[in-house]
Amino acid sequence: MKEKMKAIVKVKSGEGGTEMQEVPVPKPKRNEALIKMEAVSICGTDVHIYEWDDWASKRIKVPLIYGHEFSGVIEELGADVIGFQKGDRVSGECHVHDNMCFQCRTGNAHICENMKIFGVDMTGIFAEYSALPAANLLKSGDMPAKFVTIQDPLGNAVHTAFATDVPGRNIAVLGLGPIGLMSVAVCKAVGARKVFGIGRKNKYRINLGKECGADFALSSLTDDVEKIVADNTEGRGVDVVLEMTGNPHAVNQGLDLLRPGGTLALLGVFSGPWTTDLNEKVIFKYTTIKGINGRLMFDTWYRMRGLMESGNLNLDPIVTHELKFDEFEEGMAAMRSGNSGKVVLYMDWFKPQRNA
Ligand SMILES: [Zn+2]
Ligand SMILES: [Zn+2]
Repeated sequence: MKEKMKAIVKVKSGEGGTEMQEVPVPKPKRNEALIKMEAVSICGTDVHIYEWDDWASKRIKVPLIYGHEFSGVIEELGADVIGFQKGDRVSGECHVHDNMCFQCRTGNAHICENMKIFGVDMTGIFAEYSALPAANLLKSGDMPAKFVTIQDPLGNAVHTAFATDVPGRNIAVLGLGPIGLMSVAVCKAVGARKVFGIGRKNKYRINLGKECGADFALSSLTDDVEKIVADNTEGRGVDVVLEMTGNPHAVNQGLDLLRPGGTLALLGVFSGPWTTDLNEKVIFKYTTIKGINGRLMFDTWYRMRGLMESGNLNLDPIVTHELKFDEFEEGMAAMRSGNSGKVVLYMDWFKPQRNA
């Protein structure tokens, strides 16, 4: 067993401030498993930490090994861990919950009152090894590592879509970042009638929306979205809007695209309050609005894996960059450019199934 490992550490506040460091391999506590990483992926959250925006400067304490999306193999088990064995391939839920508060005890662990997120509030997984609570792990069988590692954001997409009623319905997905793209793929996989993927100015991602199966991949800046939606929904509008942008204009447009009696599910995070015409767009229109956070523990995870193994879910276009762990800065640059889907980084020892 190695004593030292490589880890990506946010060493100081401000933009960048990230170093590849040699740090001690952690020892798993009684309830933890030590995981040897195969692959990790970069999340929008990691971009916020890297760029050190308002949210990051208030929430993050440096130095921090960041990252929370991973695929790995169990190397060692703490004394109290049950249900796993050395050699199991796993990924995991990054919301660490206490299992004791009101929310946890009533089936809502994803909004635990004492929630901590690894890679944000505690040591993350941008490292060769990580010790994580076994209760947060899920086996991943022999699915390709590049898909195992993206289950955290994919679970956001699954949770959001499944909080509404997708099969046979017309769906608008607002925003074509990675989770928007995943939402398009999920809606098509479960038999949506027509999916309208709506981006803004990023042509690369609008194109990916098409590749993920959107019947219409549109730009809210250059396409007449309302007319295209009306023309293709017998003039009614969509049944469901999945909002992934956190942009007030997008939500108001989404409410205009929604038919009376439709559902709006909100996952995108806003930088401030949002106003709308509640009378016209919500009350008289009989709109249902749902806020979505995290992934249901662990219903979302089991359904997500079921969906992945069904063969219906086309995730291929979503992983656009497969790099080495050492190429973190390049991967981060790709994420920040906007010309990427998910960026996956492989550990040196791991041989990915590139054509899987
Ligand atoms: Zn993430
Ligand atoms: Zn709790």
